[in-house]
Formats: sequence, structure tokens, C-alpha cells
Amino acid sequence: MPADLRHAILFEPVRIGPVTAKNRFFQTPHCNGMGSSRPEALVRMRAVKAEGGWGVICTEETSIAPEADIAPAVGLQLWDESDLALAGRLADAIHRGGALAGIELMHYGPVAANRATRRVALGPSGLPFPRRLDPAQPRAMDLADIREVRADYVRAARLARQAGFDLVYAAAVHDATLPMHFLSRRYNRRSDEYGGSLENRVRLLREIVEDIKAAIGDRVAIAVRLAVDELLGPAGLTSVGEGREIVAMLAELPDLWDVNLSNWSNDSASSRFAAEGHQEPYVAFVKKLTSKPVVGVGLFTSPDTMADQIRRGVLDLVGMTRPSIADPFLPRKVAEGRVDDIRECIGCNICVASHNSSVPLRCTQNPTAGEEWRRDWHPEVMPFDAPRERVLVVGAGPAGLECALTLARRGFGVVLAEAKRDLGGRVTTESRLPGLTTWARVRDWRLGQMAKHERVEIFRESRMTAADATALDVSRVIVAAGSRWRADGLGRANLDPIPIAPGVRVITPDDVMAGDALEGPVLVFDDDHYYMGGVIAEKLVRDGLAVTLATPNAEVAAWTAYTLEQPWIARHLAKLGVALRTRCNLSRIEPGRAFLSDGSEVAARTVVLVTAREPIDALYRELAATDASRIHRIGDCDAPSTIAAAVYAGHALGRTLGAPPRPSRREA
Ligand code: ADP
Ligand code: SF4
Repeated sequence: MPADLRHAILFEPVRIGPVTAKNRFFQTPHCNGMGSSRPEALVRMRAVKAEGGWGVICTEETSIAPEADIAPAVGLQLWDESDLALAGRLADAIHRGGALAGIELMHYGPVAANRATRRVALGPSGLPFPRRLDPAQPRAMDLADIREVRADYVRAARLARQAGFDLVYAAAVHDATLPMHFLSRRYNRRSDEYGGSLENRVRLLREIVEDIKAAIGDRVAIAVRLAVDELLGPAGLTSVGEGREIVAMLAELPDLWDVNLSNWSNDSASSRFAAEGHQEPYVAFVKKLTSKPVVGVGLFTSPDTMADQIRRGVLDLVGMTRPSIADPFLPRKVAEGRVDDIRECIGCNICVASHNSSVPLRCTQNPTAGEEWRRDWHPEVMPFDAPRERVLVVGAGPAGLECALTLARRGFGVVLAEAKRDLGGRVTTESRLPGLTTWARVRDWRLGQMAKHERVEIFRESRMTAADATALDVSRVIVAAGSRWRADGLGRANLDPIPIAPGVRVITPDDVMAGDALEGPVLVFDDDHYYMGGVIAEKLVRDGLAVTLATPNAEVAAWTAYTLEQPWIARHLAKLGVALRTRCNLSRIEPGRAFLSDGSEVAARTVVLVTAREPIDALYRELAATDASRIHRIGDCDAPSTIAAAVYAGHALGRTLGAPPRPSRREA
């Protein structure tokens, strides 16, 4: 029974076909950049989650055959018996924590370019997948191909059972799986019994589930993961149209329904564009059409919201991917009534970006994510091994806060000095920008934890000089003073300063965040390509100013393709009335106007340069000049990067300071 009885409903067991989950906390499948390529890291990551108390823990997408090869993306493979050893280790690791082990079998159909295996891709029709530009088309599957794919599913399902999995998925999600492409009117142009009417288009998914059930259904539960709405209106599956009809047709066939939105950027929408529980309007109908348990996701981090979803009959199991990465121990903390200790996901999608870069998982809130094996970091366990030292951390941004907390957990005495009254550094200022409210959780969680450690003394409004730091009775100084945006335009596109005529108002995001009054029209020049340019443009347009955003790239906010936000940002800015100019460098700025590299000019009384940042490292340099061995720099003050990188740097130094050096392990 959990400490808080309002959450008791979350700890009820749930029967899923032939197996039973011990509670309603369900870690939905998620990729992680480890997969079959980095097996040790993968097994340890899932093992840590299992310790955290989940009722069900699923693998990532698991390719069932060489025709389902999405290299260079990294996933799990279950093609033949040579994959059994890793699959078995995974299932064992999950079971050791008392969770059911689920595996998401995947055939990517025309989305697989089969770059590594060089097999011919397969699809319902011969059309290439619109978002993959490889100069290769899939073969339109004939009936023999269909039989073969069904056999691939059965073989993989049998292997999954042999490995010890309790739950096997047939997935039709993310606009990226063969069964989904058969369901889709857009992609399925067949005229045989697998095309045309919805009944025909559902046939392959139905057969796959029936085949798997017949092969392993006595002992293993079968889940259908279905994207019930693609947010494309009548052109796609919708929760009032074909998405609903498919659920109605297959209602009692699977043992579990896992329902969500498609494509992936809608399913894993960032918190900038989606709130907790955002999928409810689309998936709530499912439970009305089936007696089988239903799991769904939606950035759930609050146990109150989770319990409410169950009580209102929206879901039976609460699906969490990102919240399980940010806090693998979320269920256990709810059970123990330690809700304040939950490291709440901020919805930034840096985790997604790691998968999209084919590198091991990383997380803004949880610096141990992806490092459980490589660096032997456990999210909840910290060696209490500090020498009896007192250290000074300068700057209470994400790097300084995380470092101070980690050092205190190890037993160091910590003096944390912050120049401003507000703590949190960039997460405090940036969380006041449109759509970024949840980012303040990076600060709030750390302050909440620090409040439990008497070993951190926090001094606000204490701008430290080298003399102040030297005068303090501390053994080391860690400078986490952050960075500032450049005002000269230097960046990726301009290695020399942008010519700026005298008397022109040129500012940076720091000035906007400081609340400087601006005159429109405004040009935001974005040579940073992440979120800042777009967020500043949004703020200014909401302030009533006319705004143009120009970028040298072909797309606005191009890097956010990794976080799945790029299409959202482009649509959002256009809808807000921001004039978007792509493939344009900024050539020079004169009073009232700015000149772009395509020869055009833009009326601008204010220009905001979002190009690059420079470290605030003068204090570090001055201190290091006398005794470099006792002085450290971390985060943006070392090299400006993401908030995730600042947290990671703070954690890494906190873990290693004064500890015997240990090599970082390596798989690939
Ligand atoms: P990071 O992302 O690396 O943590 P931030 O810019 O978010 O960096 O935070 C740096 C923090 O350091 C800011 O809150 C800033 O006010 C503070 N700071 C900078 N210089 C000093 C200083 N000399 N003394 C105390 N605090 C400082
Ligand atoms: Fe959540 Fe961001 Fe961590 Fe992903 S990286 S789990 S979105 S906090």
C-alpha cells in the first residue's frame, strides 16, 4: 500500500491476458541509442529501471528481420537465435526488479532503407516513404512476401518467448511500421484482399496478431500498439474515423491496447507544444470499445494526474517513456510517498535527440541516463566517500546546482554563491519565455533536494571575485558562471563580426530576457538553430511587435529536427505571424534596416542576434593562474552547450572530484 492512499489505485495489479502486472506503472517502449550495438549499457539501463518499481518495462523497437533495418539508427534486433542471449539478459534484468518484460516487435516496411543489410525494402505499394530521401523504393509486396513477413513475426515472437518476455507487441505506430502503412489509405494503394476497404487494410495486422497468439499466446500476452490519430484529419487515421473503426474491429483480439498519436513528433510532442495528458482527447474512446486493458502516454509526471486517468476510466495502465528516463525510480517514490523527490521530466526531448543521433541516451534532468554501465552511475545511489573538504561553487545555474548537490550527496561541505537573487541561472530566465515553463523543474528539483542536505550553504546576491574566493576557507573552487550571448554576430555563418552602423539597436537574447523595452519592427537573426531564436521571436510577436526571423539554414530551428520539434516550430511561428526568411545570412545592419545575403533588405529598428555564446570565464582564468589544480570550470562557463550538458558536467565533476580515477567503459 503506498504512503499516500490517493495513489493506491496506481498500485493495483492488472491482468494482461495470461500475465499480471504488479501495478499500473508501464514503461512504454523507447529507443535509447544502445540496442544490440551497446548491450551492456542497454541491460544495465533497463535493470536500473526495474529496480525503480515499474509494473511493466518494455524494450525499444525491435527489428524482426534484415528487411527491417533502420541503420544508422540503433535499435534491438531479434532476427535469429544469435540474438537470444541479449534478449534473455534483458528479460532477466527486468524480471529481477519484479516487472513484466515487454518487447516491441517492429517491421519498418518502406521506412526501412536497409542501408546496412542491403535488402530490398518492402511496402504495401511500391511508393517511397515521403520523409526518407534515399534513392531507393520498396518492392510492392506480393502474397509470398506477406506470408514471409507473417512468418518473420512468428519467428521473432517465439524467440521473444524463449528469451523470457511476458508481453509481445505488434506495432502500428509512428507512421513508420509496415502494419501501419497497410492500414493507411495514403500508403496502401493495393487492389487485392489487403487493400481498398478498411477491412482489407486491417487484414495484415489482424493476421499478425492471430499468428503470434496462436504461436505463443498461451503464456505470453499480445499487445497491439496503434496510432489512433495521425492529426492529419481525414487524410489519416483519426480517433473519430478509421482509428476508431480499427479498434472496434479488433477490440477483443489483443490482450492489451497501447494507443497513441502518430507520427512520432505528435506522440512525443515536447512540453513546448503539449501538456501533461495531452493525448487523452484522442485515446479516451478506446476503453469504451474493448474490455481489454488500455495503456496510453502523455508526459505524465504527476501521480495525481495518473490516478485521475485511471479513476475516470481513460486508461488502465499509465504509460511513461520520457518520465521514466528522467526518473527511473518514479513508481517507487510514489509508493514511498516521496512525490517531491520525483525528478520530473521537463519535456525537452534531448533524450529523443540522442536516439536520433545514434548515441546512448541522455537526459536533461537525469545525468545518469545512459551512464548506468559506462560510468557506473546509479540515479539514486551515491557513494558517501568525500574527503572532509569544503568547496566553493560559483554560480547556481544548472551546472552549479547539480555539482553542489552531487558533492553534498557525497559528503562534501559546499558553499554555493550566486550573483543574483534568483537561483537557477539560465533555466530561471529561459523558463519565463513562451512555452518553456517546465524547464524551471531543473532548478526546482535540485533546490528541493539540497534543502534536505545541511551540507550546502547558499549565498544569494553574492557575486564572487577572485579575492572573495581566495579569502574563503575552501579547498577548491568550481566556477559555473555560465555564458553570455555574443553581440557581434560571430557564429557558424559569420566568422568575422557583422558590420553594424553606429547608432543601431543590436541586442541579444540576454537583453530580451532581462526585459529591455524594444522598438519594432524587429529582426531576429538565428544562426544558433536550436530553440532560442524561435522562442525570442514568439515572445516579441506576442509583445505586439512585427517580427522577421532570418536564418542562414534551409529550415528554421534546424537542429530541433533532432528533438522532433522542427515542424512544430515552423508551423507555430508562421501561425503567430512571424515572417520567416530561410537561406539568408545577415550581411550588415544600418539604422532602420538590415541587409540579407540574398540582396533583400528587412525593415528593422531592433536586431536580435542569436548566433553564439561566449563563456563567462574571467574568474576561472584569474583563479587558475595561481593554482590550476584547485580550480575547476563546468557547464557553459567551460563551453556553452545545452542545459543537459551543463547538468551532466556538474554531475560528472561532483561524482569524480577527489575520487580515484576510473576509466570510462567502452562498447562501440
Ligand atoms: P550553466 O548552464 O553552466 O549552469 P548559467 O548561465 O545557467 O550556466 O548559470 C550561471 C550562473 O552563475 C548565473 O546564475 C550567474 O548569475 C552566476 N554567476 C556568474 N558569475 C558569477 C560570480 N562571479 N559569482 C556568483 N555567481 C555568478
Ligand atoms: Fe524528459 Fe528532457 Fe529528460 Fe527527455 S531529456 S526524459 S524530455 S527531461
